[in-house]
Amino acid sequence: MAPLLETTDLEKTFGALVANDGISLTVDAGEVRGIIGPNGSGKSTFFNTVTGFYTADGGTVTFDGEDITGCSSHEIARKGLARTFQIVSPFENLTVRQNLLAVHSKGVRVSEDKRERADEILEFLDIAHLADDEASEMSGGQQKLLELARLLMLDPKCIMLDEPTAGVNPALQDRILDRLIAMNDRGTTFVIVEHDMDLIRAFADTVTVFDQGRIIAEGTFDEVTAESRVRDAYLGV
Ligand code: ADP
Ligand code: MG
Repeated sequence: MAPLLETTDLEKTFGALVANDGISLTVDAGEVRGIIGPNGSGKSTFFNTVTGFYTADGGTVTFDGEDITGCSSHEIARKGLARTFQIVSPFENLTVRQNLLAVHSKGVRVSEDKRERADEILEFLDIAHLADDEASEMSGGQQKLLELARLLMLDPKCIMLDEPTAGVNPALQDRILDRLIAMNDRGTTFVIVEHDMDLIRAFADTVTVFDQGRIIAEGTFDEVTAESRVRDAYLGV
């Protein structure tokens, strides 16, 4: 079976800094891939380059059988590859429901189907009771759920999550993980960057370890965390 997402020798530099130094990675449909690595190892850069927020300086990205290298972030999202940001940024002066309906609607009248889908998603994520509140009134953790809700409006095949539970209280972290598992059970593929090793252990099928812009290990959580070079990468910073 062909992988759903594949990068070959992906490179991103900022001046003299090589933030992604030849990242080749394949993710199968239905898989949950964890990406771990010390701060500054290039994880967010990888997300940005794969999803069209940065232009790659070398290498290719293939998604769902199509070369998407150089496509815009909007095109990539429409093809079914969605991502969240380490720092969330909802439309603060819109209500929670309006935030969902604003995704790609561009001022066009919102269809009844879209409204129904929005309400379904808010129910699924347990934030339906907040639908008419302004996004600015939500806690940081609730805003992370809102960001996820907005992505789901695009019905993505693959979701890339950048630290989805950072700064979120433990109860809400459990709920986010529970919802991610439910989505994966329904077939959504995930690539997740997260410092919470309990979450990675519980959720990821395979883990890729980044260090200084390169992949230094790949395997199950237990396999990679047993490797001395992985331990060194974390302790060496
Ligand atoms: P991680 O997400 O693993 O913590 P990042 O991908 O954010 O790491 O950063 C990798 C390296 O690239 C860091 O040295 C960071 O300072 C640098 N970097 C990331 N984004 C930019 C940018 N837009 N401009 C310049 N340097 C950047
Ligand atoms: Mg990061």
